[in-house]
Amino acid sequence: MIGPSTILALRDIGVRYSPAFALAIPALDVYPGEVIAIIGPNGGGKSTLLRILGLLQAPDRGEVRFRDEAVTVAAGLAARRRMAMVFQQPLLADATVADNVALGLAFRGVPAAERAGRGARWLARLGVGALAHRQARTLSGGEAQRVALARALVLEPDLLLLDEPFAGLDQPSRAALIPELGGIVRAEGVTTILVTHDRAEAQALADRVAVLIDGRLHQVDETARLFRAPASEEVARFVGVETIVTGEVIAADGGVSLVDVAGRKLEIGAAARPGERVRLAIRPEDVTLAQRSESAALSSARNHLTGVVVRVTPGSPARVLVDVGFPLVAAVTPRSVEELGLAEGVPITAVFKASAPHLIRGGSS
Ligand code: ADP
Ligand code: MG
Repeated sequence: MIGPSTILALRDIGVRYSPAFALAIPALDVYPGEVIAIIGPNGGGKSTLLRILGLLQAPDRGEVRFRDEAVTVAAGLAARRRMAMVFQQPLLADATVADNVALGLAFRGVPAAERAGRGARWLARLGVGALAHRQARTLSGGEAQRVALARALVLEPDLLLLDEPFAGLDQPSRAALIPELGGIVRAEGVTTILVTHDRAEAQALADRVAVLIDGRLHQVDETARLFRAPASEEVARFVGVETIVTGEVIAADGGVSLVDVAGRKLEIGAAARPGERVRLAIRPEDVTLAQRSESAALSSARNHLTGVVVRVTPGSPARVLVDVGFPLVAAVTPRSVEELGLAEGVPITAVFKASAPHLIRGGSS
């Protein structure tokens, strides 16, 4: 039943903190070399799940398996030594950067002669080689997190466990570190479990994504598929689908369906049964806006819905809520906002392809 190839696996895990919160994970498998992200809203149980995976917290029930052998917190030292963790706070010792990185190697019995060279290599790899002799407490947040990552990676762990490692960083530091770290763990083949509330981080780094909401895994899937085809409305909302509407299938033919949503007929590239009630999720990035007179000429997309702008939320992209008989959100560039003169009350046409709506079955309405 349990595949021999997992590096870490959970079976029937349960934790109850209070009547208000319980974690229940029937199964989770982590495979060697993959980057798996655990994403979900704050308070959903991500840190608890990561502590259980990292043998820092014993679950109330269930089993943690490391390389297909049951392990426990009490008797898990050998397994824990194959893991390294990095948290939102870098938690550096009050010592030099070099000493911080050498410390873990000393704990693991690496000879002193080897420590300095290995440490220097990893500090350089994380772009902080020049800081080796600085006191850790004098570092900026971004520098400190790079040192914390070097301190973890120098151990050459089988598993790297990361709990919101970018959450405390300013935007430029995050934007630089995320792809660098991705490159390093892929080059080294380090199995990585990343916990984050930020879906963009998961999208940037992970091969697979597990969505944890209210202590339950709602979907575990390849990253692209999860974002394209969320399995439930809760997942769709969390991964950034803002328009979710209910409709009725009025015709279906050869993998194309016509769905009535609030009196508008939408063409959907999915098979369905006439008479079936379905939920449709439409990502803001998949909706473009055009002047009413120009939309047909500009696009071969199948769905052109006339409507009126209800609200423009500035940003890059800006989010534009359009009433097309139902509320539809479009993500558009600031430049388009200006060119189209988007503002409350402006008539506009929303355009999207038949492939844009994702059909969710069995959702609540
Ligand atoms: P996340 O990392 O997704 O924000 P956590 O695992 O930290 O979630 O917490 C999940 C829920 O459990 C939260 O409501 C949190 O307040 C609560 N919680 C976390 N740790 C404990 C604990 N040791 N004892 C009691 N409640 C806890
Ligand atoms: Mg947390």
